[in-house]
Amino acid sequence: MSQPRFKYLVAKSPEELATLLTRYGGKAKVLAGGTDLLGAMKDRVTVPEVIINIKKIEELDYIREADGTLKIGALTKLNDIEKSPIIRDRYSMLSEAARSIGSPMIRNMGTIGGNLCQDVRCWYYRASPWCGTAFICYRKGGDTCYVTGHSQHKGMLSVEESDFKADELFLYGGGVRVVNPAFALGSLEITPEVAGDGRYHSIMGTKVCHAVCPSDMATVLMALGAKVRVMGCDGERMLSVEELWLSDAPWLAIESDEIISEIQIPAFKGETVGTYLKLRFRKAVDFSIVSVAALLVREGSVVKSANIILGGVAPIPWRAKESEAILKDTSMVGMADMVGEAASIEASPLAMSAYKVPLSKVAVKQAILNLELETMGHMSKSN
Ligand SMILES: Cc1cc2nc3c(=O)[nH]c(=O)nc-3n(C[C@H](O)[C@H](O)[C@H](O)COP(=O)(O)OP(=O)(O)OC[C@H]3O[C@@H](n4cnc5c(N)ncnc54)[C@H](O)[C@@H]3O)c2cc1C
Repeated sequence: MSQPRFKYLVAKSPEELATLLTRYGGKAKVLAGGTDLLGAMKDRVTVPEVIINIKKIEELDYIREADGTLKIGALTKLNDIEKSPIIRDRYSMLSEAARSIGSPMIRNMGTIGGNLCQDVRCWYYRASPWCGTAFICYRKGGDTCYVTGHSQHKGMLSVEESDFKADELFLYGGGVRVVNPAFALGSLEITPEVAGDGRYHSIMGTKVCHAVCPSDMATVLMALGAKVRVMGCDGERMLSVEELWLSDAPWLAIESDEIISEIQIPAFKGETVGTYLKLRFRKAVDFSIVSVAALLVREGSVVKSANIILGGVAPIPWRAKESEAILKDTSMVGMADMVGEAASIEASPLAMSAYKVPLSKVAVKQAILNLELETMGHMSKSN
């Protein structure tokens, strides 16, 4: 698989980056570790005209504390987050989540900024024309989500002449039937016959696209109440991680001429306990099927406030509001069952994703049991 043609630029400082973003804006994509972007380009999921390499901006690679706030530069590698003594000691759920991502190689290349901004892993959206499947789904500008099993939907796939050799056209098949291969160079009429397989897809908060947010960092950072600093041509702005996605579509709320420059985790107000649990089919190099990040601010065993965020179940990291409300101003002891039950109250799964409902309940229950155990340990030590 070859890369599409693109103009390649390198920004060595935030100032150079701002100039390039002003000049190329919507035509450009920034390249950090490249672990997501380069694959997506090869598969023609995204075909930017311009790539701006930001890896050489040293000012965006750091982990430091200032006035109790932990600040992480967007170019900090996942490996450095996993290994950082401050993060291991004080924000262990973030370190655990980083350790659960991909493989050592991916964590050595992938950055926290890229992890938050990575594209979704839906197999219809990611299907490569090279392998004989390409779906013009809602996310790619079409009007349907193939997970729901719309069949006989006609779409047009735009193919650059340089992308294919004539004999490769016959590789098309599977989910996409080539109506007339002779017209394939230029634009291709396709008639996908799709049964709809949503086993890895969303069960909550779905608007049109059923793809789930794949980012482990996002789930944990939302539980930690983190904010992101967004840098663009017109200056900077702060967003909470919760505001990083649009509320009516599963897209990032940052503009094409903006980047995330920093992640900030505010100081905790009071005693806290936190945990991250990730359920997946394989123990390594696998995205979560369901994950939960829970952070409780407590006085003794009484929960003053709770952040319970589910990953792998919705197009955005999903706040389990009902579970949080049950715990507020209540002793956590003996509450795990009820809190877990409430976690999926808003679920409306498709048949193939229904198994995620009990998994969400169990994951939240287990997280609360772990935190109860940890709290009891702290309390018995201090008595
Ligand atoms: C085999 C495999 C397994 C994986 N498993 C997991 C997993 O279990 N959990 C998980 O969370 N992730 C997983 N990932 C995803 C991986 O964590 C991401 O690919 C990685 O974190 C992206 O970081 P990057 O620096 O390489 O981003 P890039 O690939 O360089 O960029 C990704 C996207 O983000 C944009 N971008 C990059 N940096 C910024 C920034 N600072 N501001 C704005 N936009 C930016 C790019 O333009 C691009 O659109 C896996 C990936 C692979 C290939």
